[in-house]
Amino acid sequence: MSSVAQVIEAMPTTDGAGVELNRIIGQPALSMLDPFLLLDVFRSDNPDDYIAGFPPHPHRGFETVTYLLEGRMRHKDNAGHEGVIESGGIQWMSAGKGIVHSEMPEQENGLLEGFQLWVNLPAEHKMSAPTYQEFSREDIPVEKREGNIEVKVVTGTTSHGTRGPVSQPLTDPLYLDVKLPAGERFIEKLKPGYNAFVYVIQGPVIIADGQAINRDQLAVLSFQDQVTINAVEQDARFLLIAGKPLNEPVARGGPFVMNTKQEIDQAFSDYRSGKF
Ligand code: MN
Repeated sequence: MSSVAQVIEAMPTTDGAGVELNRIIGQPALSMLDPFLLLDVFRSDNPDDYIAGFPPHPHRGFETVTYLLEGRMRHKDNAGHEGVIESGGIQWMSAGKGIVHSEMPEQENGLLEGFQLWVNLPAEHKMSAPTYQEFSREDIPVEKREGNIEVKVVTGTTSHGTRGPVSQPLTDPLYLDVKLPAGERFIEKLKPGYNAFVYVIQGPVIIADGQAINRDQLAVLSFQDQVTINAVEQDARFLLIAGKPLNEPVARGGPFVMNTKQEIDQAFSDYRSGKF
């Protein structure tokens, strides 16, 4: 059985050109959960909160994973890659040695809701060429379990055998979006030694037989072989995310995540001199 090691409250912050968001990982209460460096949640139906978007900015050394529940975001990079992430779609971008991109809301009103997760890359892959894995709602399998439980599988393979379309063997992530009706119980296997967390979109949920985790809270799971999550009086929805820790030194500098301070300095220097 898996139980809760730590409960993290969302920290409201502003990023990009003035986007209001909740930072869950990558803040004082949880600076990282190896290999996960950051988790931002945006959810607003007020365009003032999101319309400014994220104008062109660089990344190097890790992956940005954008998963939209509602709304549309246009993505464009300096290598000519452009597209729109639609409601229910995922973009798994491996920035590798570097890209400059913009992420802008493709809507002027209505609800924009989604997540951006940063996943670290091991040292030997930080300077690889950038790659994209992009899948729309229709590409992401929905596993139906007894009790009207629905499990959208972005990446990884569930204990029932459903496999998500994104592939990343370096950190071997599991990324599930689970709808759990009131009174039902969700059980999933976790790989030994992997870091795992639950982020509650709609709740509360009860993890194992103990702790209630509310909407917008993140529960870091203790190292165990499976997790049990219960919805009690209300329908619940949550992300269950796990990955293989890299156990490498982490040096951060804004949009760059490398292993040493020297490599961060190099990233800023390369960016300034137009090498991205
Ligand atoms: Mn970005």
